[in-house]
Amino acid sequence: MISREVDFAANGAAAAFREFSQRPGADRARLLRAIAEGIEALGDSLLETVQRESALPLARLSGERTRTCTQLRQFADLAEQDAWRDTRVDAAEPARTPPRPEVRSQLVALGPAAVFAASNFPLAFSVAGGDTASALAVGCPVVLRAHPAHPETSHRVAGVIRDALAATRLPDGAFALLSGGGREIGIDLVAHPAIKVGAFTGSLQGGMALWRTAQQRREPIPFFAEMGSVNPVFVYADALARDAQGLAQGLHASLTLGVGQFCTQPGLVFLADDDAGRAFAARLAELVAATAPGQMLSESIAAAYRGGVVARGATRGVATLAAATPKNDGARSGSAALFATDAATWLASPELSEELFGPSSLIVWCASTRDFAACAAALHGQLTATVWGDAPDPDLLWALEQKAGRIVFNGFPTGVELGGAMMHGGPFPATTDSRFTSVGLRAFQRFVRPLAWQTPASAPGVRN
Ligand code: NAP
Repeated sequence: MISREVDFAANGAAAAFREFSQRPGADRARLLRAIAEGIEALGDSLLETVQRESALPLARLSGERTRTCTQLRQFADLAEQDAWRDTRVDAAEPARTPPRPEVRSQLVALGPAAVFAASNFPLAFSVAGGDTASALAVGCPVVLRAHPAHPETSHRVAGVIRDALAATRLPDGAFALLSGGGREIGIDLVAHPAIKVGAFTGSLQGGMALWRTAQQRREPIPFFAEMGSVNPVFVYADALARDAQGLAQGLHASLTLGVGQFCTQPGLVFLADDDAGRAFAARLAELVAATAPGQMLSESIAAAYRGGVVARGATRGVATLAAATPKNDGARSGSAALFATDAATWLASPELSEELFGPSSLIVWCASTRDFAACAAALHGQLTATVWGDAPDPDLLWALEQKAGRIVFNGFPTGVELGGAMMHGGPFPATTDSRFTSVGLRAFQRFVRPLAWQTPASAPGVRN
């Protein structure tokens, strides 16, 4: 039986849907801007709440708040301009035999959305994050499943959204927060008949459980889940010859950023097994060994990471190149680690392709860079793939285009820009639907469908 809380929120969203989606885009733009202003008005006290719950540093959280408000304002602009509707008209041809009707089409909101907050971005992928902003922009009411790792943050931001709805005189059912309770709350939400679309960021196991629920309903619904990615990096000799030291420092910074808790964290590095490759790996290992341990987002994420490090180090054919000294500073502590294996072992060991969420990476030794393309062809779907070098093998690039949502050249995968061109998605298991992105202006496309209106050529009022 569906819980009363879920029922109330989902039915409220359904009741709000018609008015919320039919009001001018300018009204929803005012709502999104009011949410951004409300978040900013909470000042540093909000950041202190988030820091206490997430253990993320204040500087990072300040940047994340800016990102969150930028997303809200970008989607406000999108809602206002209405271009997202992609209106098309095929003119009538009354004189044709048979007469051709007029067909007009637009993108329209799918309906109430179930949105699952992520643990690793307590502002930017949470209550008022990109999923919520893009769904509200196009007229989908949102029922938000709070992440249990930051409950007070969730309540404070939800309060801002409720105030903004009241201030802009939009229906209050357009947003509801579901917090507390167990997993069945999220399952019930996705199963609720009033919910018409879902969005999620988190683990493969959680994303797939919710996606299956969405598909097994009497009326299956689209459910976009962004899940694990190991974000492979392929390094050519010319990049090492140019600046091996700078590359090692940059890669180390990227793999340990935010205690490695980014879905774009580079967890796999392909290198040629030669002198330059070995020297580069040795430098990277030095940097990893000297990394200070960090506090992770939750005790369960830290426990999963530490267990994963032990399991990886014990895997046959895997060497531990560096393990930063763990500090005895609590159940949320996580220390960086670097592992290495050979391509044959990697190809034969599916568990070495699984995301190990935290500050670790696995080097895969290839006999030469000519083996990169075959390794890339064996990858699962990824959010990103990175190539260092100025003349990469076209076969590698073709293989990566089949596997990744974003290919980074001579850069690092962490740091996902906001913009019209950004793609933060990718083939399964990076996401459940490679056609969509959860970051950037195209993120709204997850919440709409095309609707066409056809009128006979002879009907009065047909515009042609
Ligand atoms: P998670 O376990 O996937 O949880 C995310 C949300 O999904 C939570 O609301 C959770 O509810 C729910 N959920 C999880 N499993 C479910 C299931 N079987 N049925 C129904 N609902 C379920 O993610 P997390 O708590 O953020 O972190 C756990 C692991 O996820 C990390 O160690 C990491 O491996 C991965 N992760 C990946 C990314 C990424 O961007 N790729 C981001 C964050 C985390 P409950 O909390 O009630 O279980």
